Amino acid sequence: ISEWLDIHNPATNEVIARVPKATQEEMSAAADSCSRAFHSWSEMSILARQQIFLRYQQLIKDNIVRFTIEQNNFVFADLFFAEVVEHSCSITSLMLGETLPSITKDMDTYTYRLPLGVCAGIAPFNFPAMIPLWMFPMGMVCGNTYLLKPSERVPTCTMLLAKMLQDAGAPDGTLNIIHGQHDAVNFICDHPAIKAISFVGSNQAGEYIYERGSKNGKRVQSNMGAKNHGVVMPDANKENTLNQLVGAAFGAAGQRCMALSTAILVGEARSWLPELVERAKALRVNAGDQPGADVGPLISPQSKERVCSLIQSGVDEGAKVLLDGRNVKVKGYENGNFVGPTIIGNVTPEMKCYTEEIFGPVLVVLEADTLDDAISMVNNNPYGNGTAIFTTNGATARKYTHEVDVGQVGVNVPIPVPLPMFSFTGSRGSFRGDMNFYGKQGIQFYTQIKTVTSQWKAEDATLKSPAVTMPT
Ligand code: NAD
Repeated sequence: ISEWLDIHNPATNEVIARVPKATQEEMSAAADSCSRAFHSWSEMSILARQQIFLRYQQLIKDNIVRFTIEQNNFVFADLFFAEVVEHSCSITSLMLGETLPSITKDMDTYTYRLPLGVCAGIAPFNFPAMIPLWMFPMGMVCGNTYLLKPSERVPTCTMLLAKMLQDAGAPDGTLNIIHGQHDAVNFICDHPAIKAISFVGSNQAGEYIYERGSKNGKRVQSNMGAKNHGVVMPDANKENTLNQLVGAAFGAAGQRCMALSTAILVGEARSWLPELVERAKALRVNAGDQPGADVGPLISPQSKERVCSLIQSGVDEGAKVLLDGRNVKVKGYENGNFVGPTIIGNVTPEMKCYTEEIFGPVLVVLEADTLDDAISMVNNNPYGNGTAIFTTNGATARKYTHEVDVGQVGVNVPIPVPLPMFSFTGSRGSFRGDMNFYGKQGIQFYTQIKTVTSQWKAEDATLKSPAVTMPT
């Protein structure tokens, strides 16, 4: 080990752990270990792999409190914590191929769905357990071995997950973890044994990884940043809508890729703004492990600085800060990276606080006269991760879901993250690649198809001379 990376508690900025940065030799050893394990793992009975993941999902649930402790510096609701692992246990039917008998005389065609080889994941900080669990279980249950690079800012959950997978019976070499930053990312993008990369994180990193990985012939899916709009119609259930909006904007201090960070108040719904501010004001800012905390700290001092400067950019460009969390003080945690709930009104689409992902507890509010105006605003924004409409009118909801160009749409559901029998279908500027995360698309991402065409002729149908045409 030549270098250690410090892990900080974001509520105090104290160092709570250190992680060894993998050297080039260690990273090569990890990739080689995955390569060596691939043959026996992919040839293992699919039922045996299924059993390992059945045990694994149970172990995760039995130890959920350990993850809560690891993550307690955030205020989390890790909604889909083990669901993707549970879904991976249905692998026996998910991996089925297709068959078509008698495509011509005595000839049948069938397909096998097969693993790719070594696959890799590069994870962000904001869901330290959930996002790694969207990666390696899906990849591995298909028969791939897996190299995972957790976020260098929250690597401890991943280590816990890896240990539990070992306890569930995964053979040595099937999952390897490397720690680090850019060098580790470049290693993954360049290593010839790695066939596919699943990335989650910012656009800056995701676009780079997509380009470098694809150039090297790998499959890459990059799930990236967002600017998710909540469109509030005047006929919406006001009580529900305001509560949902506040919860989805400020939960986890806005550090969710599906946070509803932008509200568009349509027509008369504009008058709801003061009440929205009142509700946001009532949220309690505190360290994630303190009882009653609603809004935890940001991940780092740099993040706090960035969020505060984006709030200031709104002021400088003529927006109005209706609730300002920049000077929030949290007793006992004076050194933490806290920003309180912030609401910026009078925002227009060209402002920086609207064009950039803030990734903090900041809700920017725009106004629109009509539903059509709101739809064109959302469609003109480059991101396409998620959106929600709040209305009691079915026709309005239907028009919105059909016309909005965003990959995940909620109707009176503020954070429409699909369960894993579906896939996580962020689109446009929030995604690069052609096969999404988990669900059917996840299985496609981690597998390739082999198509076998076979002919078994009866003795008396033996060819009498060479067939020079394409056999059909
Ligand atoms: P990040 O991009 O800083 O880090 C993600 C990973 O990429 C880390 O493992 C990091 O080591 C690596 N990395 C960072 N900068 C890099 C660079 N310049 N080149 C190569 N690799 C780099 O993201 P983060 O701050 O950890 O996470 C927050 C971001 O993730 C937000 O933009 C959020 O919207 C996004 N996110 C997206 C989804 C989704 O499903 N679309 C889910 C969660 C988070």
